[in-house]
Amino acid sequence: MVIRGAVQGVGFRPFVFRLAQELGLKGWVINSGAGVFIEAEAAEPVLREFLRRLETEKPTISFIHSLEALYLDPVGFTTFEIRESSDGEKTALILPDIATCPDCLREIFDPANRRYQYPFTNCTNCGPRFTIIESLPYDRPRTTMKKFVMCEACSREYLDPADRRFHAQPNACAQCGPELALWDAEGKPLARKQPALLAAAEAVRAGQIVAVKGLGGFHLLADARREDVVCELRRRKRREEKPFALMFPSYELVLRHCAASEVEWRLLRAPESPIVLLRRLADDDGLAPSIAPRNPYLGAMLPYTPLHHLLMNAVGFPVVATSGNLSEEPICTDENEAVRRLRGIADFFLIHNRPILRHVDDSVVREMGGRELVIRRARGFAPLPVYVDRELPAVLAVGAHQKNSISVSVHSQVFISQHIGDLENEASYEAFRSAVSAFEAFYELKPAAVACDMHPDYMSTQYARASTLPLVAVQHHYAHILSCMAENHLRTPVLGIAWDGSGFGPDGTVWGGEILHVSDDGFRRVAHLRPFLLPGSEKAVREPRRCALGLLYEVFGQDAFDTGLVPAGVFSDDELEVFPRMLCHRINSPATTSAGRLFDGFASLLNLRHRARFEGQAAMELEFALAGASVDDGYPFEICTNGDTLVMDWEPAVRAALRQKNDSLAVASARFHNMLVAMGVEVAKRIGEQKVVLSGGCFQNRYLTERFISTLREAGFQPYWHQRVPPNDGGIALGQLMAAAAQLRRE
Ligand code: ZN
Ligand code: ZN
Ligand code: FE
Repeated sequence: MVIRGAVQGVGFRPFVFRLAQELGLKGWVINSGAGVFIEAEAAEPVLREFLRRLETEKPTISFIHSLEALYLDPVGFTTFEIRESSDGEKTALILPDIATCPDCLREIFDPANRRYQYPFTNCTNCGPRFTIIESLPYDRPRTTMKKFVMCEACSREYLDPADRRFHAQPNACAQCGPELALWDAEGKPLARKQPALLAAAEAVRAGQIVAVKGLGGFHLLADARREDVVCELRRRKRREEKPFALMFPSYELVLRHCAASEVEWRLLRAPESPIVLLRRLADDDGLAPSIAPRNPYLGAMLPYTPLHHLLMNAVGFPVVATSGNLSEEPICTDENEAVRRLRGIADFFLIHNRPILRHVDDSVVREMGGRELVIRRARGFAPLPVYVDRELPAVLAVGAHQKNSISVSVHSQVFISQHIGDLENEASYEAFRSAVSAFEAFYELKPAAVACDMHPDYMSTQYARASTLPLVAVQHHYAHILSCMAENHLRTPVLGIAWDGSGFGPDGTVWGGEILHVSDDGFRRVAHLRPFLLPGSEKAVREPRRCALGLLYEVFGQDAFDTGLVPAGVFSDDELEVFPRMLCHRINSPATTSAGRLFDGFASLLNLRHRARFEGQAAMELEFALAGASVDDGYPFEICTNGDTLVMDWEPAVRAALRQKNDSLAVASARFHNMLVAMGVEVAKRIGEQKVVLSGGCFQNRYLTERFISTLREAGFQPYWHQRVPPNDGGIALGQLMAAAAQLRRE
């Protein structure tokens, strides 16, 4: 395991040394310009214990800004030592925005303190960073705090090396710093400072929707207990069923609604303060049903700025905290723009006059295989680098189309931008472009190449093509596998299982259920799911019923329509006229090998969901449906050969699912999941490569991933999965970068 953290304060290395000795760990600790690094080896439970005690027993004068643990293969250390600092890493490290520290928290709730109830309190251990930095070096005149002149008391703290606020660039107080204001729905000022905060809290308590300017953009807050309020928010935001995240006033209240393991517990209270997916204790827990319809999980987070602490303290109950935007646009960061863009959504605006330089969403994490998995990498994580095990040429990678993020390489560090979003409109494309120029400027990047997806229509691809730099177009699923390899420090050869939504296949079909053998020379597609047609192409993503039809047509041909296999009521008469012709003549019906679409198709075949309200809904519900099922077998399948490629054929599964109509949904879902695992493991056995890498959007699915891990291990393989980098398209930029770096090296 490697732990990388930005740690402030003396006495940290000796403390790590003592703790490592006590637990019998082997490895080393080093203090470099880029933070404290620990590489430690032991059994996984011991490492988890080490991680826990590192945080709970650290010296009081030290503070952990960020802590990223990564589990790697052991290298066989025999001792634990404190190593000398190397000056090799001179890269300027921009810290992410850090949740309010315990000292600042105490101050804002202490009536005797001069920062009592001041919502912009911070110190060197906490507060805004990435969202306020204009350029490097990190110094107040180059942040959005430059317009606030520190008062005498603040200046004294700032200049005193013994003070907690020594060189705290965003240092401020009620005398000299940013202040709050409350605006009505039209942007008319109603109140300032503390009365503004209290009035905003009162509005939330009264069931109104309040837009709050926070750290990386606007949130919309609403009473999470009231069904009418949550429904109204959904209506106004035009967001049908996609789950809302909640902010809880305290962790005691989280525990009243959710179960949390030790890993989840640590994440919830970490300096990154992400949204953590937690299992809900009961359906009738007093929270509005439409927060997360038919979803056994809640996305929970705790307040992470003094503003949120003060506001939640005044509100006193859990609130929906969703990004302040219309669906699919980037989150609003400026109050005047917010009044325009959130017109008709927010009843009030709680704003402040500290400009936000770049939008940063809340991060999302979940537990996976006993470790942390970052699903959306943004606030608290970005722009901390991912370290790889080799020196890289300077490359810019522009990412995919959905869940876009970009990345740049500096020596052995890859800086991945915050989650930018789907590049589907002008606003997100603008955010994408400014992320590229900010990262190029921060790291003084002179790229030797630019890497992009093979898909010619992606806006990111077009951006890359417009550049004069050498272009490396990387196959989507190869990029998925390379990103997982990079964060796990894996060298070739490996077998990569990419169970994904969709990606451009070089053969003109839509890929997404691919098994790739990755070597020094690139990849070879050794196996794929049997292809089927998607009537209506992209429309099938939102309509699982179209995927089901594609599966039925592939198996039964025209008989699918003539013998009543297509369930009644799912298609209109007109559609039943049109679809057979579309499929027969392959009009707007591309072939796909996508595992995500196979999930969708089965969700519809099993009568679970025929239309999705948001991307991935059918697959998510199929995962949730298996709760409580203890089924060890899977649907039958076959592995056929097509030349030197293996084809994983799901036809026997479709036939079995149609036959076994009386199975419960839980049993059917478990069989489907188990089949996908069995297919992958069977191919792994035939190929015989030791290291098996799991990546792609389907590996956000906990049952699928954990069953893959255990089954592969039982069969003697070494499985690897994502930890710090998302398995979804948010991780693509890292993989593209690694592909381009490898190509440059070969040339
Ligand atoms: Zn602090
Ligand atoms: Zn001041
Ligand atoms: Fe993907």
